[in-house]
Order: sequence, then C-alpha cells, then structure tokens
Amino acid sequence: MRKDEGKVKAALGSERSREGSGAPKQNWVPAFLAEFPEAATADPEALAQNAGDAWLAAHAPQAVFYPESAELVVRLARWASEAGVPITPRGAGRGYVGGCVPVRGGIVVNFSRMNRIREIDPRDGVAVVEPGVVTAHLQDEVAKLGWFYPPDPASAAESSLGGNVATNAGGPRCLKYGVTRHYVLGLEVVLADGTRIRVGGRTHKNKVGFDLVGLFVGSEGLLGLVTEATLRLIPRPPYRIAVAGVFPSIEAAAGAVEQIFAAGFLPSALEIADRFTLERAREFCPEPLPPGEAHLLVECDGQPAGVDAEIDSLLPILRRSGAGELLIGRGEEGCERLWRTRRSFSMALKASNLTKLNEDVVVPRRRLVDLVRLGSEIEKRYGFPVACFGHAGDGNIHVNLMIDRSRPGADGRAEEALDLLFRQIVAWGGSITGEHGIGIAKERWWPLAVSPEVRALHERLKSALDPNGLLNPGKFV
Ligand SMILES: Cc1cc2nc3c(=O)[nH]c(=O)nc-3n(C[C@H](O)[C@H](O)[C@H](O)COP(=O)(O)OP(=O)(O)OC[C@H]3O[C@@H](n4cnc5c(N)ncnc54)[C@H](O)[C@@H]3O)c2cc1C
Repeated sequence: MRKDEGKVKAALGSERSREGSGAPKQNWVPAFLAEFPEAATADPEALAQNAGDAWLAAHAPQAVFYPESAELVVRLARWASEAGVPITPRGAGRGYVGGCVPVRGGIVVNFSRMNRIREIDPRDGVAVVEPGVVTAHLQDEVAKLGWFYPPDPASAAESSLGGNVATNAGGPRCLKYGVTRHYVLGLEVVLADGTRIRVGGRTHKNKVGFDLVGLFVGSEGLLGLVTEATLRLIPRPPYRIAVAGVFPSIEAAAGAVEQIFAAGFLPSALEIADRFTLERAREFCPEPLPPGEAHLLVECDGQPAGVDAEIDSLLPILRRSGAGELLIGRGEEGCERLWRTRRSFSMALKASNLTKLNEDVVVPRRRLVDLVRLGSEIEKRYGFPVACFGHAGDGNIHVNLMIDRSRPGADGRAEEALDLLFRQIVAWGGSITGEHGIGIAKERWWPLAVSPEVRALHERLKSALDPNGLLNPGKFV
C-alpha cells in the first residue's frame, strides 16, 4: 500500500524491489496475536494508521504491537527473532524520510503507550522518560520547574522522544544548544534478539568504553529499540528577545549572519528565508511583512541584562547589513509573535497546492548564498519554484522543491533536480541531511553521501547487532 505513488521514483523503486524478499514465509499472525493478546492487533485500521509517516511512501505491516513496558518489548523481540518476522519501531510517525515505514511488512512496534515521564530531577539535571513521551510534553513539564530541555524540532507538539533520539532531531535552537545527541546521557535499548542493555547513565560526563549512546542516537531504528532515555536538563534561560527584519537581498541577510558571528555573538536562533518563501508568506503572515527579498530572525536568551545588552549591540549590525524596519519581540509573548510569522512560512508553502519536497540539506556556512542561488538555478532549469528557509546559523537550510505533480514528467524532473542539488551539496563538503535522516527518502543518495568504506562499516555494525536483518529491514543499511 502506498499513499502516494512515485514521489521520487528511485526511492520508491528500490522499495518495490525489496518487497517480497526476506518476508516471513508462513502465516505467523494468528500465533502472534495469541502470544500477545494484551498488546498485539491486526485490526485493518491500526495497520493503516501505522503504515506511513510525514513523507510520501507507506506500506502496511501485518500486525501492530503496542508495548506498555520494556519487558514486553524483550518478549516481542525474542518471539520475532525466533519466528523470523521483521519488526519496525515507530514513535509518533512524524518523520520526514519514511524511517518508520515497515517496507517489508511484519510487526510495527508502536511506542505511543510507553509515554510516562518517570522522573524529573533538577538536582541531577536529568529527566528519565519512556520513548513515547511527546517532546513538547517533556519541555512543558521541565519548564514548570524552571528547567530546560532545549532540542526543539518544529514537530515537537507531536513527535516522540524515542523518535527524536532515533533521528538525532534538531531545530532552531541547535545553533546554541546542540542537537538531541547532546542531551542523551543514557539509554535502555532492546536489541533485535531481545537482549536488554543499558548504555551511558545519568551523569553529565561519562567516558567508560565506546560511546555506545552515540551509536544508538540517530540510528533510525536499525540497531535497537529504545525503551528508556535519560536526558540532560539545563537551567532555563529566564529571558529572551527576538529581532526580525527584511533585507534587500539574500546576500545582505547572509552577510548579517556572518557579521553577527564575526562580532562574537552566539544567538539562540538565526533563521533565514528567501524571496519565494516571503512572497508566499505575505498572504499568510499574522503581521504585514515589509517589501524585501530575504527575512532574518535572530534570537538571544539568557539573563535579562545580558540579553538586553546583546540585542543593543546586534541592532546596528543588522542595520549596517541592510535590514529595513526591525521588529523586536521581548519576553515569551513578544518572541512568540515573531516566531508565529516564521512558522507561517512553512504553512504558506503547504497551502500552495503544490507538493512540497522538503530537503534538509546542510552546507558550510559560507555557502549559504550559493545554496540559495542553486535553488534559483534549479527553479529556472526545471520550471518549478524552489523555496529556501531554515537554520542559517548551522548552514542547515530546508530547500523545498514545490512540484505540480499533475504536470506530465514532474516526478522525473524532481528526481533530476534532487540529483543536481545533492551532488552540489556533497561537492561543497555539505551533508544531504542535517536532521531528518536517510530512511527511504534519501536512500538513493546514500552512496553519494558516504564512502564505500563507511557504508561497509555501517553494514558490519548492523550485522553485529542484528545478524538476521529483522530490525527495520529494507532501509539504507
Ligand atoms: C511539520 C514537521 C516539522 C518537523 N521539524 C523538524 C525539525 O525542526 N527538526 C527535526 O530534526 N525534525 C523535524 N521533523 C522530522 C521529525 O519530526 C523528526 O524526525 C522526529 O524526531 C520524528 O519523531 P517521531 O516520534 O515522529 O518518529 P517516527 O517518525 O515514528 O520514527 C522516526 C525514526 O525513529 C525510529 N524510532 C522511533 N521510535 C523509536 C524507538 N523507540 N526506538 C528505536 N527507533 C525508534 C523509527 O524506526 C524511524 O526510523 C519535522 C517533521 C514534521 C512533520
């Protein structure tokens, strides 16, 4: 089953070729349901609900498993390993690359019922959570105690912490605070054969053995099932100020980013958007956007006096770089007003009736302008609009190809455009994904992105931990 046939033909084509191979031979579903009556279902609605994520491909499993404890996950993994049935972990299904799509069927392990925050301990600066906890729920609970869990994917209101760990999720605040990996102190993981391990711990430093926490973070559900995470918390910055402005050109906005760093500032967010994004956003913005070709949002946080002083120094830099009128939002409410404008960019693109292919590429920061120019070149060459916006401070820009799929040949042209985009990104020393992962969406470009030796190392790690290839099979490793 696919909810959208052939977005990027190559990616789905490789999915097609995988179907059938490796699938369990006998009808194992009745035995499975009988073994786990409390957690297993083959209800067609549940199968359909667990078939896809926020990307375009979907494939239904034969059964879904809703564990409420790590013990159940251990029993499931042992059962599946003996029966030779694939298992695919799923958090909230808000991934952008088809990572939780069970391309070889089998069982989806849906962690939504393991959604308890077990502990928030400000003295130690840790939270212990089950994988199904929704990211924003943890953020809100720790904020009530004056503490802070910084990783902030834009999907935070829906995505799960288990999914964030498995994708090493990022967001605007990564510039100052880092990505999910920097907040994972310890993990409990169930391996494909049912072995339950604990790696890391609850201390903020830990150098015992290899960095096995790092091995599992970002492993896209291919190496183990995360059943608990111990996360680092930091004191909540009490105050923040955001400044937003429109610039006459993308070069001017990118120049401002450079100047901000050159002057020794590290804002908590530095978000850029290009002309096409602004044009679309003008209809959707809660506040009027002045004319201009590029938008920049800068946010600083910390103690009030320090933040005030930083912003006072940043305003002249922005003006000198060509910013027109600058809007300043102070405190939670003032900042949120400017962030609503920033968030409207994405909504405006989604409302365009075009299919939005969101590619979260990363370039070395000095290539920001080159990247936006490449977007314009793609626009001219292939005849569809390209909107670029995102985390300028990290060089992590969402390049959105806006495709009218009703036009003949649109999918093929999109595929060629993606080839061009990713080849150039790699040639610049960039990365084809900064946050979303490879999954199935970017599998076609996996060989472009990493050397044969590094691919072989991935294969060796995978076979060491999952020798029968039953954990989330059919993905890039
Ligand atoms: C509107 C929108 C905005 C987004 N913005 C951002 C953003 O700013 N930054 C960002 O990084 N991402 C972003 N994303 C992508 C996505 O939300 C993240 O990748 C998120 O971490 C996915 O979490 P999830 O719970 O939905 O995981 P799922 O989609 O369910 O799964 C993602 C991957 O994790 C694996 N997995 C899930 N749970 C477990 C587990 N317990 N153990 C082992 N493996 C597991 C799955 O097998 C799959 O490979 C966005 C997505 C949307 C739709």
